Amino acid sequence: MVWTDHRVEQLKSLWNEGKSASQIADLLGDVTRNAVIGKAHRLGLSSRPSPIKRKTFILPLGNERMCQWPIGNPGEPDFRFCSQSAEPARPYCHQHCALAYRRKAESAA
Ligand SMILES: [Zn+2]
Repeated sequence: MVWTDHRVEQLKSLWNEGKSASQIADLLGDVTRNAVIGKAHRLGLSSRPSPIKRKTFILPLGNERMCQWPIGNPGEPDFRFCSQSAEPARPYCHQHCALAYRRKAESAA
C-alpha cells in the first residue's frame, strides 16, 4: 500500500477530526492501524491528546517486576518496554534506574 498525497491528506483530516487510528485505517482501506499510527507519527500528527495512547501505554505492563522503561514512542508500532528484571522496589532495571535518577537530577538543576 502506498501513501499517495491524496491518502496523506485524508489521513491528516481524519486524524484532526479526532478519528482513532483503527477508524482511519477502515476508512482509508488497504492499510493497517499500525501503518496509520506510524504515518501519523512521521507527519508529526501524534501530539493530539489521545485516550488510546494512554491505554496503549499501560497495556503491556503485565508483569510488575519487569522494567517499565518505555522504548520508542507510545502509539508507534515498535513501542515497547525494556522488560529486563526491575530492581527491588523500583519500576526500572538497574541501567534505567541510573538514567531515571540522572534525569531527575538534571531537571532539578
Ligand atoms: Zn530497563
